[in-house]
Amino acid sequence: MDEYELELCPFCGNKAQVRYTGCGSGSHGYTSNILMRSKAGFVICLKCGCRTPIHNKVSRAINKWNMRADSGVTAQEWISVKDRLPKNNEIVIICTDKNFIYAGELIRDTWFLDNDSWTATVTHWMPLPQPPKGE
Ligand SMILES: [Zn+2]
Repeated sequence: MDEYELELCPFCGNKAQVRYTGCGSGSHGYTSNILMRSKAGFVICLKCGCRTPIHNKVSRAINKWNMRADSGVTAQEWISVKDRLPKNNEIVIICTDKNFIYAGELIRDTWFLDNDSWTATVTHWMPLPQPPKGE
């Protein structure tokens, strides 16, 4: 029963749930949906626990949650170089076998850091995040 149409968690892709504050768990079935929506609450991911702040109106928390999922803010997952390599000359975030993280690029099977070729063993990479929006 999901009357809120919550987007999936932007971080782990799992289901999220509305939680109410100041509302006993036993009263959920008793209170009408309209009344419930006017209560304070937040949205929380059931798996990774990321959540919105508490809003006086749960509908605002729901809007926030769904907006965030739609705004292109998604979890950055490491991609194994065994699975996929970045495009040539695409600057990406890379992680070495020693768990050091850099930004670098792959040019014809060689990793480059600041235009210098580089011999560390890169195990994972991910696209660069988007720059901040606006001023
Ligand atoms: Zn999550």
